[in-house]
Amino acid sequence: MARDKKLPGNLDPRTLMVHGGTQRSGFDETSEALFMTSGYVYGTAEEAEEAFKTDGLRYVYSRYRNPTVSMFEDRLALLEGASGCQGAASGMAAMTLALFGLTRAGSRVVASRALFGSCLYLITDMLPRYGVETVLVDPDDLNQWADAFKKPTDVAFLETPSNPGLVLADLPAIAKLAHAAGAKVVVDNAFASPVLQKPLSMGADVVAYSTTKHIDGQGRAMGGAVLSNDPEFFKAIQPFVRHTGPSLSPFNAWLMLKGLETLDLRVNAMADSALEVATYLESHPKLRKVMYPGLASHPQHALAKAQMKKGGTMVALHLEGGKEEAFRLLNALNVIPISNNLGDSKSLATHPATTTHQRLSDEERAAAGIHPGTIRLSVGLEAASDLIADLDQALKKV
Ligand SMILES: *Cc1c(COP(=O)(O)O)cnc(C)c1O
Repeated sequence: MARDKKLPGNLDPRTLMVHGGTQRSGFDETSEALFMTSGYVYGTAEEAEEAFKTDGLRYVYSRYRNPTVSMFEDRLALLEGASGCQGAASGMAAMTLALFGLTRAGSRVVASRALFGSCLYLITDMLPRYGVETVLVDPDDLNQWADAFKKPTDVAFLETPSNPGLVLADLPAIAKLAHAAGAKVVVDNAFASPVLQKPLSMGADVVAYSTTKHIDGQGRAMGGAVLSNDPEFFKAIQPFVRHTGPSLSPFNAWLMLKGLETLDLRVNAMADSALEVATYLESHPKLRKVMYPGLASHPQHALAKAQMKKGGTMVALHLEGGKEEAFRLLNALNVIPISNNLGDSKSLATHPATTTHQRLSDEERAAAGIHPGTIRLSVGLEAASDLIADLDQALKKV
């Protein structure tokens, strides 16, 4: 049997994403094995007894752990520079287990107002049902963060850049304030992806992903993950993971594992195209405003350059004429499909006010930077010239 060689240290992330975390079975396969199994067998009753006593040393049940899921978790942890990773069935399962693992009745959570719709629901509707106090602040206003952290706090939760407004939060500054208040900082890093932004290196305690987005990146499967260097965090979430069952399916973990092999190539190519598309849109007379962290016109461009390797794969455009114009533009696109998903190899366009953020009040939407004329564009792997031509012909019909 070919033995797995230990990888040398200091490998480039692109190398780690191809080889990292691989555990070969006895068949010496090249591609990672897909272990579609819910359970595991033991040679003797004594072995089974021992497996339950020495908890975690061998696989006992796939609600707890599965070898394909472990390979995915180990590979993603290498990319993030984290000592641990817990996979989850979806991005929301990951957000839920982080938030519920770190809070109990009487806890206090300070969160950004500009969050993915379901994250906002979790924080403002669900956690308070269990006696958790939650406070919302504008992500780009450090005075509001500082005020909110005047009281002892358990969790700070934020997203940067935000969905869909592409507002940034100053990670090192917020982490410093949060830590002084006793809070663990949880960053939803789905928009930037682990290729372009490393929150753990800027003071975050936990990074959470919807791996449905860039990490699968090909529109195939739901998944999520939380990563941290803090053993206390994994202790805090372990009972929640085991007893509520938000487990990632081995099949989806296998897809995501293969997604990691091409993640760096895809995200870099998509971000380069996003900059080209945003540059074209910026000078278009029919647009009131274009938000893209990689453009010098973005109000937080300097912060984007300090925190992110590139401006990301998402562009927000604001049409003067509200919903009617936004719908006309979406309906006139020939190459870019209308879809609320993002981070896909296919470019996707959506109208957040009537889809992802429909549930919010007008005031909440405005606070999150979503106007009736806002369109969110997720830039994919097509030639940037074809995307620009598609947007150009569609804008002529607006
Ligand atoms: C998609 C998304 C989520 C939720 O992830 P699912 O995989 O859809 O459950 C959370 N946060 C952000 C920023 C997202 O884009």
